[in-house]
Amino acid sequence: MGYKKIFTVFLILSIFILGFSWENHTLITYITLSGNFGTEKVTVKSIEDFLHDNEKEIFDMLYEADTEFSSEIKNYKPIPEELKKYADNEKNTVKKFFYLLRINPEYSVKYFLKEVPGNNYENYKKINFKDIAYADYFYPDALYSEISTGNDINSLEIISTASDEPDYGFDIGLFDDNDTYYGKIYGFGDQSFGNPKVIFGSQAPFHMGFYNESGIIYFASPSMKNTYPELRIRQFEKLAQFAYSKGEMYWAYRFAGWALHYIQDITMPYHSAIMPGKSTFELLWVAALDAVGIKGPYNNVLDEVTNKHIVFERFQMKKLYEDYEKGADLSYLKVFTDDETEEFDDYKIRSELSNNSKKFGKDLDKKINKAIYDKEKYNNLVNIYDSQNIDLEAILKFRDSQEYENLYEITKTINHRTALYTYSFYKKIFEK
Ligand SMILES: [Zn+2]
Repeated sequence: MGYKKIFTVFLILSIFILGFSWENHTLITYITLSGNFGTEKVTVKSIEDFLHDNEKEIFDMLYEADTEFSSEIKNYKPIPEELKKYADNEKNTVKKFFYLLRINPEYSVKYFLKEVPGNNYENYKKINFKDIAYADYFYPDALYSEISTGNDINSLEIISTASDEPDYGFDIGLFDDNDTYYGKIYGFGDQSFGNPKVIFGSQAPFHMGFYNESGIIYFASPSMKNTYPELRIRQFEKLAQFAYSKGEMYWAYRFAGWALHYIQDITMPYHSAIMPGKSTFELLWVAALDAVGIKGPYNNVLDEVTNKHIVFERFQMKKLYEDYEKGADLSYLKVFTDDETEEFDDYKIRSELSNNSKKFGKDLDKKINKAIYDKEKYNNLVNIYDSQNIDLEAILKFRDSQEYENLYEITKTINHRTALYTYSFYKKIFEK
């Protein structure tokens, strides 16, 4: 196996991330924005009507954005000519819109709210997750209310719900080797990492931004450069700004929520580094051993990173829910100092937003290590293909309160950044 091949085996771990990335974006968005900004009642408008009323301008804008992204986004893959022709021949405007955004065209847009614990949804009909998501997966404690076009809905609920939505299937099957008709014409090439046959794995390169690895990693594995949260953020930011300028407020909030999703994802260390806590040398060493047939060390590292990712996201979600429900102090999610709140800057998505998340990885890695109690249950995590049976209480049993506090503190610090970027992005779009 040549060098370049070494890393193509890398990162099967990503098959796991899929639905779990920052489980519950909705609650973080909701807490952060509530109290910091006003809310308004917004009338739900169907995507068909929104596109119909703005058709020419929207499609012109998407073509212009392609030119702009070609010069501004590193390693951007322009929309192929073939796809442009394909989209232009499409009569269904929603499909055409998704083709030009290069989103899964089979994702069907539904109208719903993701319920925030403690809020009242008794006037709404329930809708199941499997009826919203393109492909069903186990999503604990996620409850949904159906809303209809013409309903007046609180803007905070719309944007909070939308910030969870991109995990529901936007980015499935977009690569050449994913065996979908659209993957073959989208121009993203082969899947950047992970197994192209695993349906959820295919979305990972859109939700993880490996923008700050060392040159030798990119040399050994050039496809690691091909990650796309920055593209998604900028696409949906443009759409939110456009909708806002037209007074299309339902879509302004929904698009802004979609952008927030990817912003929030890459504030997470496990979404901004290939292997948080591991040095480039360790990475190359285990990959080299693997390439010459010594599989153990490589598999161990892979399992370890996957497990930490799962444990950390579960821990943060559990703490956030508990704290929210008992009315604990969550001011770290909504109070920011003046110099923290500078305007959201597209040019800093890689250099600051993602890079600083990566830097937290080392410390986080150590703190999780210290907190792991039941090693057997922990080691067995990767064998569980649905996350239903994670016994977090047993895995993270804190031997003394200091270890607990340490992990909790860094979780809060990371979430503070998530909230901060949420706040500054919102302000940029809606508080002009
Ligand atoms: Zn995600």
